[in-house]
Amino acid sequence: MVEPIIKLESVTKRFGSLTVLDELSFEVKPGEKLALIGPSGSGKTTILRMLMTLEHPSKGHITVDGDYLFHVKRGDGLAPASEKHLHEMRRKIGMVFQHFNLFPHKSVLQNVTLAPILTQNVGKGDAEKRAMELLDMVGLSDKAGAMPSQLSGGQKQRVAIARALALRPKIMLFDEVTSALDPELVEEVLNVMRRLAEETDMTMLLVTHEMNFARDFADRVLFFDSGHIIEDGPPSDIFTNPTHERTKSFLRKVL
Ligand code: ADP
Repeated sequence: MVEPIIKLESVTKRFGSLTVLDELSFEVKPGEKLALIGPSGSGKTTILRMLMTLEHPSKGHITVDGDYLFHVKRGDGLAPASEKHLHEMRRKIGMVFQHFNLFPHKSVLQNVTLAPILTQNVGKGDAEKRAMELLDMVGLSDKAGAMPSQLSGGQKQRVAIARALALRPKIMLFDEVTSALDPELVEEVLNVMRRLAEETDMTMLLVTHEMNFARDFADRVLFFDSGHIIEDGPPSDIFTNPTHERTKSFLRKVL
């Protein structure tokens, strides 16, 4: 049996008195393309943010690539992870956000090379070679010298994808990456993601409201409602044969 690359065990997340995730457990296999869908506020983004260690679980355990994310084994038990451990674990994961978060005073090429040079000791020449390959992959090699302010939203988001890939993550997280874009720019970003899904064996988790894209992209869909998973299966099942009334009414509204 293949070991899961991500495993959540009874993960609860509270913000004050609000329970956002409630004893949540699921596993992701290496290479799986997972879409997380469901109403706003159901906890989808919180899961991605926890995987990036931007939020800590209130309770439960998360394993990434065989190691605990927030804990280390000590004797018979577990101890909280050090900042160094969190840093090591974070390197396995790349994330693309709704608002591109590019460095505004750096060129497109520098946006893609900065982190590998500073955090992975990659030489400038090698980092630039790899960055140009990635910019070519997202269709932007002619923009390497441009500044972010000279790019459209769709182009900025494609640079953000190249930048995340430059660190060679095993897992990519995409959080509503098209929802800040004008409608005519959505497709160019989705096309890049479609290619990535087809051409790489990276594990990908996608939070999206683009249901048609989720159906195309994902080989597994999780439907969230109030911090619980109420459907888990291939898109063909969930979109055509949802079992829960909640899923049916959600899909009626968004499809
Ligand atoms: P989704 O991605 O499904 O829309 P989120 O994971 O973003 O849901 O949010 C789930 C709930 O947690 C929402 O009610 C949101 O307001 C709340 N929430 C998220 N982050 C915080 C935070 N840092 N502090 C307080 N509440 C938060």
